[in-house]
Amino acid sequence: MKLLVTGGAGYVGSVCAAVLLEQGHEVVVVDDLSTGNADAVPAGAQFVEADMVEVAPDLLGAGAFDGVLHFAAKSLVGESVAEPEKYWRGNVVKTLELLEAMRAAGTPRLVFSSTAATYGEPESVPITEEAPTRPTNAYGATKLAIDHAITSYATAHGLAATSLRYFNVAGAYAGFGERHATETHLIPLVLQVATGRRPEILVFGTDWPTPDGTCIRDYIHVRDLADAHLLALQTSKPGEHRIYNLGNGTGFSVREVIASCERITGGPIAARDVERRAGDPAVLIASSDKAVTELGWKPQHTTIDEIVADAWEFTRSRF
Ligand code: UDP
Repeated sequence: MKLLVTGGAGYVGSVCAAVLLEQGHEVVVVDDLSTGNADAVPAGAQFVEADMVEVAPDLLGAGAFDGVLHFAAKSLVGESVAEPEKYWRGNVVKTLELLEAMRAAGTPRLVFSSTAATYGEPESVPITEEAPTRPTNAYGATKLAIDHAITSYATAHGLAATSLRYFNVAGAYAGFGERHATETHLIPLVLQVATGRRPEILVFGTDWPTPDGTCIRDYIHVRDLADAHLLALQTSKPGEHRIYNLGNGTGFSVREVIASCERITGGPIAARDVERRAGDPAVLIASSDKAVTELGWKPQHTTIDEIVADAWEFTRSRF
């Protein structure tokens, strides 16, 4: 297929673009490099450095694309609470423009990066796609708003659409990994301690109602996530908007993640217990049963050590 990948210079977008190329697809990456890195665009992809809204009508109109994988987004939870306007414009308004460009060009397929943050504080875990969607920050709210818009476009205009709700994406693949200028995620921060770029990892809260008192999250390997995108593209149907949660179905606590990083890096990691971080739910674990059943998705890297080992290999190769 010929595919447009928005945000293909970012973490998940670059890995997915690399896997699409490996599978023989033709890939055009559009990314304004506001948070991505030009050298994260995989070799073999055509790269258009631009705001997707400015170039999507021409690119899609001229190019006979079979589909769009839409990763470009603002994704910092804290920033979304402090400056929601950036998220409503950057995520919602821009995606509406992209949907219009796709409609005008007759682009048939869309795979959208949605998020577990659309659910907010869960009533029960594991979280299924039927769980109530009550986002607790603007990031999750904007992704949910886009999911609703996509449903309308699928129903009215025959778009074949899939939203993939990622839980905690981690790991690396083919030399592409997580390297945000503003890093907030646990595994890359712990690995920064291992390389000496950070003195210690702060453990946000040790009084949560969990076995060791620290928060539990569902870490999913970025390579497994890429597989789900391919399956979504292959199985989507015109007029349908399907939504799938993607996680391992297994949770790991902050302390378990730090212990895994110690095993993989081979040394102690300095950690300091501090107050809870505002807005953190105690436990987030996905039910991915629907993706397994309907997409035929099968995560291959399910242990925390495998995920951390690939993240560590990437970190060591760069720093
Ligand atoms: N966390 C932590 N210290 C950090 C960063 C994160 O203790 O420096 C915790 C955070 O409170 C959460 C878990 O690690 O319980 C995963 O956080 P992350 O920001 O990676 O992902 P989130 O689940 O918030 O999307």
